Amino acid sequence: MRQSKLFTKTDKSAKEFESVNATLLQKGAFIKQVMAGVYEFLPLGLRVLAKIENIVREEMDKIGNEVLMPSIAPKELWEQTGRLEKVDVLFKASGANKASVEKNNAEYVLNSTHEEVVTPLAKSFNQSYKDFPFAIYQIQTKFRNEARAKSGLLRGREFRMKDLYSFHVSEEDLKRYYEEAKKAYTTVFERVGLGDDTVIALASGGDFTKDFSHEFQTRCETGEDIIFYSKKLDIYFNREVAPSKAPSLNDENEEIKAREDVVGKGIIGVQELADYLKIPVEKTTKTLIFETDKGEIIAAAVRGGYDVDEGKLLKIIGAKSLKLASAETVKKITGAEVGYAGILNLPAEVKVYIDESVANRKNFECGANKTDYHSININFGRDLPEPEKVYDFKVAKEGDMHPETGEVYEVFRAAEVGNIFPLNTKFSEAFDYKYTDENGKEQIVYMGCYGIGTTRIMGVIVEKLNDEKGILWPEQIAPFKVHLISVRTDDEAFEKAEKLYNELTEKGIEVLWDDRAGVSAGEKFADADLIGTPWRVVVSAKTGEQVEIKKRSESESKLISKEELYTALGY
Ligand code: ATP
Ligand code: MG
Repeated sequence: MRQSKLFTKTDKSAKEFESVNATLLQKGAFIKQVMAGVYEFLPLGLRVLAKIENIVREEMDKIGNEVLMPSIAPKELWEQTGRLEKVDVLFKASGANKASVEKNNAEYVLNSTHEEVVTPLAKSFNQSYKDFPFAIYQIQTKFRNEARAKSGLLRGREFRMKDLYSFHVSEEDLKRYYEEAKKAYTTVFERVGLGDDTVIALASGGDFTKDFSHEFQTRCETGEDIIFYSKKLDIYFNREVAPSKAPSLNDENEEIKAREDVVGKGIIGVQELADYLKIPVEKTTKTLIFETDKGEIIAAAVRGGYDVDEGKLLKIIGAKSLKLASAETVKKITGAEVGYAGILNLPAEVKVYIDESVANRKNFECGANKTDYHSININFGRDLPEPEKVYDFKVAKEGDMHPETGEVYEVFRAAEVGNIFPLNTKFSEAFDYKYTDENGKEQIVYMGCYGIGTTRIMGVIVEKLNDEKGILWPEQIAPFKVHLISVRTDDEAFEKAEKLYNELTEKGIEVLWDDRAGVSAGEKFADADLIGTPWRVVVSAKTGEQVEIKKRSESESKLISKEELYTALGY
């Protein structure tokens, strides 16, 4: 492509966005923000996205059939699974003005995912055991009303996803296919250039299954996920499911001190409290009072500096949902205003859950259950009975250990580029999707779902592969392989460049030829670095019969012959 024909222009002085990918992709005119979380894909950006999606397509074609499902769906489908009210990022679409509503006043859902659409589709074709297994996928635009959309392509309100759904006669067959999908995913991430940095992490299976789901997480400083790696077990855990043991604070030489109730009016946060009491934050205790969906009141205590992981806690207490108890309830239960709750002397009807981080300490603080008061130098066995059982419902933290191996986790940030989920029978039940087995008996269908964020992959690659000058695209997804630069447009060298451009293009090598008049050499080189094409080739009066070649990732350029150029480019 001739750069003079590109309708976009780079803008090196464009504003800095909160994320590197948003900044560089907009300076390079790959994408343009329309509003938070919504972007236009411009010629260069669309080329990159298409390459990523084609790699995904090639691998998915080996394990499924491609279709294209609609972006909008009738509300009824979402009602049928109960997710119309539940999915907290769901958008709806309806007539935008009176005239439109008068024509059709229905309301639709803008699909955030497609289980509600694909299950009836699959059911309409395949109902005999002979039809199974099969898998359907699409690469499509998704809509999610995300709370925070400030990380460029990493989190869009409109974004692209490849979503695959598989259908099976048994859980075993689902498990078999699930492993096949894992392999296909691994190949995709290798092919787009993220293989070395992408791991498979265990994550929550949500309310679909007791099993884990699996996330493909790419190491990335600006990713939103935190991964805990146990080297001994060679298992990666998403923080939400990482079993954790806090560092022990048991010091044999520490003497047991006398308990005291100390006034600390209005001092509520653990750090503030620790400073006020002149104790380490690890000696404080955070006690939260919750109300469960069954109407039970529970107290959950973690060591100061930790947070309660509601997902972990829900599993332990066997409830569906939790909410913090109202100020009124807290007062009724503890006898104190919010902020002074502790695990001392709670009424018998309140079930107390103690995280393991609370134990293994001496002389610790906890709320006195008396407005304005905190109790200090609390000790199990004296002020409180030794807990019968301790749990792990804290949000795991750097420095924590895997409880079984006792080994401190390696902790790193990552971006979730893919996610595979055993759905089991959640959606087949909702849509009464059964098949007839060999004996003519009806049986429930098992399902799995498998997502890859194609626009997020593009963002992650930019987050990881950039320098002060711009982007460094991996060759297989770069918008072009070669950025050919003509320094002038009115000399003999320009004609040579045109000839080379035609030759390379005929060979199927993708070239962006900077043939723009009135643009300085310095500007052209800066653009080439910003756009990040893997090879820069200069043909100028100075290069004579040779060409100057430079890899984007290297600083040295060299003069080579045309033949050598073809060899360098792999032809
Ligand atoms: P996250 O935890 O990041 O919100 P998710 O678990 O809700 O993602 P899935 O429903 O599993 O996402 O979607 C499959 C894939 O789609 C994700 O692995 C991710 O790569 C991508 N994805 C999800 N939400 C977004 C988004 N808002 N913007 C861009 N990509 C996204
Ligand atoms: Mg996910």
